[in-house]
Amino acid sequence: MANEDKFKKVISHAKEYGYVFQSSEIYDGLSAVYDYAQNGAELKKNIRDYWWKAMVQMHDNIVGIDAAIFMHPTTWKASGHVDAFNDPLIDNKDSKKRYRADVLVEEHREKILQKINKDIAKAQKRFGDAFNEEEFRATNGNVLRRQKQIDDITTELTRVQEENDLAGFKQLILDLEIVCPVSGSKNWTDVKQFNLMFGTKLGASAESAMDLYLRPETAQGIFVNFLNVQKTGRMKIPFGIAQTGKAFRNEIVARQFIFRMREFEQMEMQFFIKPGTQKEWFDYWKETRLKWHKSLGLGEDNYRFHDHEKLAHYADAATDIEFNFPFGFKELEGIHSRTDFDLKQHEEYSGKKLQYFDHEENASYTPYVLETSIGLDRMFLAVFSNSLEEEELEDGKTRTVLKLPAVLAPAKAAIFPLVKKDGLPEVAKEIVDDLKWDFNVIYEEKDTVGKRYRRQDAAGTPFCITVDHDTLEDNTVTIRHRDTMDQKRVKIEDLKAIIKAEVDVKHWLMKM
Ligand code: ATP
Repeated sequence: MANEDKFKKVISHAKEYGYVFQSSEIYDGLSAVYDYAQNGAELKKNIRDYWWKAMVQMHDNIVGIDAAIFMHPTTWKASGHVDAFNDPLIDNKDSKKRYRADVLVEEHREKILQKINKDIAKAQKRFGDAFNEEEFRATNGNVLRRQKQIDDITTELTRVQEENDLAGFKQLILDLEIVCPVSGSKNWTDVKQFNLMFGTKLGASAESAMDLYLRPETAQGIFVNFLNVQKTGRMKIPFGIAQTGKAFRNEIVARQFIFRMREFEQMEMQFFIKPGTQKEWFDYWKETRLKWHKSLGLGEDNYRFHDHEKLAHYADAATDIEFNFPFGFKELEGIHSRTDFDLKQHEEYSGKKLQYFDHEENASYTPYVLETSIGLDRMFLAVFSNSLEEEELEDGKTRTVLKLPAVLAPAKAAIFPLVKKDGLPEVAKEIVDDLKWDFNVIYEEKDTVGKRYRRQDAAGTPFCITVDHDTLEDNTVTIRHRDTMDQKRVKIEDLKAIIKAEVDVKHWLMKM
């Protein structure tokens, strides 16, 4: 399936099987805002739990909090968001479409990179085992020319961003001859900066109301609570504070389903460390987070690191874990070495000391911070899009199957009576009543068993359990596996252990 078709299929499947709906759909929806439906809410919860268990439960030096979305407005002055949380926007005068100027340039650069990758793949095919990629990259004329273009673009993009040279930004887009994907024209407006924070008001009367922002990230709720948590939890450096929660950004362009939303959820962890150890912890968290992703089995080749050339105002090193979404490799998680920027800023703006007394050193200092920040909705999209498959079957037919990692699947098993009579529904319901103490399970009796299997395959349910007339004689049922379609006869009393072996968090996290 072409990538664009695959992405369309992902979006329609998410709706059809009760995963994601457009927000306020009966009013024609709200742009870049989505609701999670009955299965989506379960999948999202399971991803959140999988992250929380790996980060908080499995680390005795990481604790979790749940800070409010509203924060004192000075927070955002101190963090730099009021002055610098901007994206450069540009409009095409013919199509009237709006774009992020940096994204236009990055996408242009990515196309050149894809051409290099194509050349390499071709040469690899031609030369077989004798192919030496390093040598090819260093000597092939086309590759060298394209690599130089990429490097030049990166250098200029970094410069215009760092110097906030908006005229230079426009010139770069003109020089690269980037055209609007809709109108095909190069008729661009000037580049402008646009602040992404949503404002709101707190207070009953217009005169006394206070200007507030909806938080654009969860991290600041952790920084302002650093000392509270450290003291009440008697935390010793190095230690981490984790939280999951909603964040809001008035994104300029939001056309990629739940990849870029205006209201979304983050899962962030700030790890407080001794100054000077940031490189070591940066490497540690890069590796640890990648292992977490890979433990879910979405494919080793679907991840890559992208180190930042342009560092945010708070960072001394930063990398993204990119995932191979249906529209290509894009950021899934950010890992940032934030130095002592945030705590120092909050000290300055609040006038309160935010330091740590290190008993071993017998000295106070402002800790440095290593941050891991992942979008829960992007993780949802990564898992969901990667799991959706159209499979050719031996009989020439196809089936749609959502091969979600079993630990994340909304329902772990569906229980069916073969027919709606002879006491079979009662036995099936007894099994449901027993299993539901341990797992999310569902009962289904409509349509033929074959149709019920297909429906559960497409909904992502790892096991189907069928009660038939033999069950009444010998207390056994048929259990069918979603991915292999293998069927086995097992004892009812063994069901719990069989399901647990595949859906247990431990089984998955142990792979890290
Ligand atoms: P991008 O470059 O894609 O705009 P970012 O670098 O601004 O992302 P961060 O500020 O580092 O993102 O936020 C951390 C994580 O939050 C991102 O890796 C992403 O998974 C998620 N995220 C950020 N913005 C959005 C959004 N608008 N919708 C959904 N998830 C988002």
